[in-house]
Parts: sequence; structure tokens; C-alpha cells
Amino acid sequence: MTGQAVPNQAWELAFFLSGHEDLAAQISARAVNRLRVAAAAQDKRRYYQPSLRVSQTDATRSKIILSETDLLQYLIYRESEFLLDALCQGRTNALPQSRDLTEELLIHYVKHLVMLTVSRNSFHVMIGISRVLHNYSTTEAILLYHLVTQNQERAKDESYWRARKGQLIRALKTRFGSVLTVVRGRSGEERIQAQADTTKYQTLVDDCLRRFTPWSTSCLVSENFTPQCSSAPTQMFSSHDASAKNQIKVERMHALIHPACFARLTSTLGLAAPHTQLEIPQFDLSVLSP
Ligand SMILES: [Zn+2]
Repeated sequence: MTGQAVPNQAWELAFFLSGHEDLAAQISARAVNRLRVAAAAQDKRRYYQPSLRVSQTDATRSKIILSETDLLQYLIYRESEFLLDALCQGRTNALPQSRDLTEELLIHYVKHLVMLTVSRNSFHVMIGISRVLHNYSTTEAILLYHLVTQNQERAKDESYWRARKGQLIRALKTRFGSVLTVVRGRSGEERIQAQADTTKYQTLVDDCLRRFTPWSTSCLVSENFTPQCSSAPTQMFSSHDASAKNQIKVERMHALIHPACFARLTSTLGLAAPHTQLEIPQFDLSVLSP
């Protein structure tokens, strides 16, 4: 994959993000060209990363090492950032005809959320998916995280969760600027002002999340998954070597990002279905007017 050929999957993702064949070709080609350098940088980090010798708590904070496939997917997000710049600056004349401005912003919002968190670790993905893109409570999010990691010792207290959510919201606000409005809830917690009715956007968000699920992964959360793990795939929770451990972290990200798997996790815990908990930002389109 480190050659110049652009895999179909890469072109298709770039086309989804840009809506233009020419732009998709440019974005995917640039991502492929950057892949060799990015993979070498990751290998250097892998070599120096002391995650095998530190405590579990510190290990969970360590950044993920992405496979070449997932790294290419991530690079396409990065190479598509100029589209978001254009949107936030009101340069909307090149938008694809098939989508409106809110849909365009929403696609880049979900992409940005996934991009920011996938490059960190599954804990950050959990915050992004359950606490920012959906409005599950901190307590519910902690239950979900325990279910995915199967390790109570990795629990962090609620103040830590809230602090990390605040960090993520501020990062999104910085990127999207005045298009996003940050408000404070009754508990003083920051949140992005959301639309009252999200029904119209459920299908699009599902489509985004399916496309943004790490390419190297597959569905390991079965229909009859239980909290006791009697039917849980061992690949999600155990490992034999460092490489497998890293892949398990990416598989956990799959379980959180992929709509079908995430819905099974919430159902297993008796939580409300993800569609009912969706938080779609109330994008301020007036600031984009020329
Ligand atoms: Zn899945």
C-alpha cells in the first residue's frame, strides 16, 4: 500500500467527504503519498513507547499505534481538513449539490470527532461517541467503558470523565469557531448546543460512523453479547503480545464507533438506543453568510 496506487476504499472515503470526483482523487492520492512517512513516524514511536513496562493506568493513556490500513483512513481525514476550512470560512460555492450545508458540516463534525479521538485511545473514543455525539450520562458511559474493556480497575472517577469531555468540546469549538455554540448545562458541564429534533440526521450519522469505523477491524460484538462475556469474543479483551494488544484497542474503538456494535452494547446494558440519544449540533449558519 505504500506505493502510489490509491485503494478503492481510500477514494470512496475521500469522495464521501468531498462529494467531488476530482477532489476525492487529490485527497486520496495525497494520503497515500504521506503514508510511508506517517508509518515510519509511528514505528519510531512504537519502538520508544514504554507502554509494556508502565502501569495499566498509564498504558491506557498511551496513544494508539494504527495499522497501515487504519493510518491511511486517518490520513484521508487529515487531507480533507481544507474542506472544513472552506466550510467554516463560508466558501460554500463548491459544495456538492446533493447535500445541504448542515449535512456538510455534520459530516465534518463527526469526522473531526472521530479523528481527534481515534488518534488518542479507546477511552477518548468512548467520550466522543457516548458523551459528545450522544448524550449518555457519565455513569452510563462508565458502564459502557467497563463493558468494552472488561476491567473495573481501569475506571476513572466522574470528574476525570467530565474534564476530558470538556477538553474535547473545546477542541471542537476551536476547530469549528462560531459555527458551534458551547453552552453550560445545569450541572455546569459544557456541551455543544444541540438540535431539538435529530430524526432527519440519524441515517447520515450512521453512514458517517460506518465509514469512519477503523478499516482493519470487524464486528466482534455479537447479537447475543452479554455483560458477563459468556459469548464475548476473547479477541476484544485478551491478548498475547504487544501487537495483539494494540489491535485489541482498535477493536474496542470499532465496538464504540460502528453503529450496529454500539447499539448492541447499549442494549446489553439496558440503556436507551443510540438514535434516541443523538446530539446533533445546532450549527449557526448565519455566521457563514458572505
Ligand atoms: Zn461492528
